[in-house]
Amino acid sequence: MATAIYLRISEDRLGEGLGVERQRQDARALAARHGWTVREFVDNDISATSGKFRPGYAALLAAVKAGEIERIVVFHTSRLWRNRRERADGIELLREARVSVVPVKGPELDMTTAYGRGMAGMIGEFDTMEVEIKSERQRREAQQRAEHGKPASGRRPFGYSADGMTLVEDEAEALRGAYQRLLAGRTLTGIANDLNAAGFTTTVGGLWRHSSVRLMLGNLRNAGIRTLRGKEVSKGLWPALVPEETVRAAIAILSEPTRRTNNVGNARRWLGTRLYRCGRTDCDRLVISTYRERYADGRVRRVYRCPSCHLSRLADPVDQWVRRLVTLRLGRPDLMDLLDLGDDGVDLEALRATAMTLRQRRESAVKMWARGVLDDLELETAKREIAGELAEVEAKLADAGRENALAPLLAAEDPVAEWKKLNGQLDREQAVIRALTSVRLLPPPLGRRKFDPDTVDLNWKPDRLR
Ligand SMILES: [Zn+2]
Repeated sequence: MATAIYLRISEDRLGEGLGVERQRQDARALAARHGWTVREFVDNDISATSGKFRPGYAALLAAVKAGEIERIVVFHTSRLWRNRRERADGIELLREARVSVVPVKGPELDMTTAYGRGMAGMIGEFDTMEVEIKSERQRREAQQRAEHGKPASGRRPFGYSADGMTLVEDEAEALRGAYQRLLAGRTLTGIANDLNAAGFTTTVGGLWRHSSVRLMLGNLRNAGIRTLRGKEVSKGLWPALVPEETVRAAIAILSEPTRRTNNVGNARRWLGTRLYRCGRTDCDRLVISTYRERYADGRVRRVYRCPSCHLSRLADPVDQWVRRLVTLRLGRPDLMDLLDLGDDGVDLEALRATAMTLRQRRESAVKMWARGVLDDLELETAKREIAGELAEVEAKLADAGRENALAPLLAAEDPVAEWKKLNGQLDREQAVIRALTSVRLLPPPLGRRKFDPDTVDLNWKPDRLR
């Protein structure tokens, strides 16, 4: 019968590592004082509470079950068991095998007695509680840092200093250029190549790739917005590198179906999504895209539906008609007049402020729900309303960020051919349509089966070009 020494190296997420040498020395000294013969079991474990497999611990348990072990010397019981389940199972196993636990720090725990098992359980509970309290505190502090607009900790963001508070000018300039090229239609791989060719590396010294460029460009931090676990929390204290609408536009482009590697969980996007509006008087909501299958031939059809008044239109004929009219418009000789379109009076500052206010309202609704002021249904209603408004504002911001979507078309020798090449690149088609016109869907005449072009109301911009 031997005495086992169990050592676990861990550098838990609180950064409180415990070196193996310290554990080993103390455990061996204790065993030597009693004259015990020892066998060592060692694990190199990165997290104190994770459920990761520990080969050393498994070997120790096997030796215990085989009746080779009399007692286990550990630095502290928290080395042996990382969570409640391991502890409960472990105590039971050691009871059956009549093995005691001798911690360097703390009293010997004789697992054959109720007292020893009780103590092992309680000491362990306090260990677990301590870990959980620390982790709760960390979460709370992270939330507060985010609410105060302090930068996220972690690796240095490209374009910013290590503390995340000041711009690194040459990187910032490269990043602005990357946004411009993305909005002009360059691929992520192309942008990665540009950055590599210009001698820039990621902030950990790696080559730029498709994926790292995507992460960087899609990050609202670059617009001075602080997020936490994917949600926007506050206005950051650091300077924005590009305006919010630029990042919004980038995010919209990056979420295009053609750019995705998989479509699971993504909302359906068609030409009219976030573009067409309900044409019923006093309604004017953005329509949503959905499917309907109640047709004689049993086929499923795409439809646009107003979320408010439930106006519903078959999507394909509408999209075809809109594309056709835009094609005609781009073929007209007065096309170059569109070059003067310029700023159509979008107040970006106001849009950004509105977006921020809506996000704050969403946060406070959640807080009110947590305090019991709002019930589940009221919270859901509030969140849905705010999400609808926010979608509109974000769509406008994304639009404004796509600086002059018409420019590439107007610069081309054959604008119509150029436009036709965009077919299916929804985001860019939408940007062109938005720059040219607005689209309203009117209710179809009763009893009419065939598509009626008069029920799609296009309002060309500006008025003088009609
Ligand atoms: Zn409606």
